[in-house]
Amino acid sequence: MTWYLKKGDIQKKRDTTRLDAVRADENIFYCEKCNRCWQIDWENTRTTYNRERNIILYAHYNDFPKYKRERKECNMCENKKYHNKTGEKK
Ligand SMILES: [Zn+2]
Repeated sequence: MTWYLKKGDIQKKRDTTRLDAVRADENIFYCEKCNRCWQIDWENTRTTYNRERNIILYAHYNDFPKYKRERKECNMCENKKYHNKTGEKK
């Protein structure tokens, strides 16, 4: 009996992971500047703490295949650009 219960739980978890992976895959972009794939880290962004403060977290993937990825500058490179600009002004 216990064995069957455990097997069922594992199956459930596997299905959820697969669905998450497919959904996440569509929202992964490739940043040409830092040569990495990235996406919004919804799992951490949607926590109450971050939602209340409008904090968006990002995840970077160094080894993610960039083939067919939409090109989009990641937040880190955008921030760098911003910092460089302010640095030049001073
Ligand atoms: Zn980047």
